[in-house]
This record gives sequence, C-alpha cells and structure tokens, in this order.
Amino acid sequence: MGNSIWYREDPVYISMSNGLTDVFINVLVLSGSRLAKTDDEKRLIVFLAGKDQTVVGIGTVGFDICEMPWNIDNFSENKTFLLNVIQSAKNKLGWETLDYTPNEELLFPVLDEFSFLILKINASDIDTGWLEEWIAEAESDDPILCGFPKCEKHGTLLSCFGCQVCNN
Ligand SMILES: [Zn+2]
Repeated sequence: MGNSIWYREDPVYISMSNGLTDVFINVLVLSGSRLAKTDDEKRLIVFLAGKDQTVVGIGTVGFDICEMPWNIDNFSENKTFLLNVIQSAKNKLGWETLDYTPNEELLFPVLDEFSFLILKINASDIDTGWLEEWIAEAESDDPILCGFPKCEKHGTLLSCFGCQVCNN
C-alpha cells in the first residue's frame, strides 16, 4: 500500500512505499532535530517523528500538510525552517548516526516533492485551532510538554512513541 502526503488545495500528492516512508521520516527527523531552536520548530519535527509505522501501523502514517502543527503567527518562519530541514536532509545532516545508508535515488525525489508541497501552502489554509488542540490533547508525559527530550544515540527529538529512528 504505502503512504501519501498531500495538500488539500492541490491535486498533486506524494506517494511512497512503506519502506521509503520510514527512511523519509528518519532523515527529516535527524536533520530537523539538529536545526530546531524554537518550540514551534521542535513541534513540527515531533509531529513528523510521530509518523512512526512501527507503532502506529504500517501504511497508516500519511497526512495532509495542513494538519501539521504550524504556528500561524510565525507561519513564514515555520515554512522557511521546514524547507531548510529538507535541504539539510539532502546534505545528510545526522546521517552518520544511521546504521544503514539511505538510497538517494529513491529518497531525494520525494524530499524535493515535499519541498514543492511546503512551498505551496498558504497561512489561510491552516485551521487556527489545530495547534492548540494538539497541545491540549497531549498526555502530561508527552515530549512536547516535557522539554522536548532527544534520543542519545540519534540526537532526534522523541515523539510520544519514542525515537522514530530507533524504532525503525
Ligand atoms: Zn534513536
């Protein structure tokens, strides 16, 4: 089956095999965890880390980019951050901690497609209540409420499921 990432205002969507999805999330979380400075940025990466097929289910981690925890007040900064995370993933930021080598021929085209989708999204497409709801629904021991802990081995921000790289 595989997973898709889409933008509700656009007919183009990214389609990936389950195996490629794990690699795609691995490299974005490795890169993003090293670049995230603000809580906004960390939450965007924790959201991606939560797309953990080992825990959530194989082929069930697709999402609409409008559902990401954008902070509408810092929307353009959030967007610039994510584009930088994607570019840095292509520059292999954090890859030295992986115990395998991602297949660039498969991975880089979907990273580029993800950049194109992120470039298209407008602040007006985001439901302003989404971020507040995400925080309100988090358990009290959720990493987004507990200082954003990181995996010691991978330097990756943890989701409520742990380290997405370790798990996969
Ligand atoms: Zn780890």
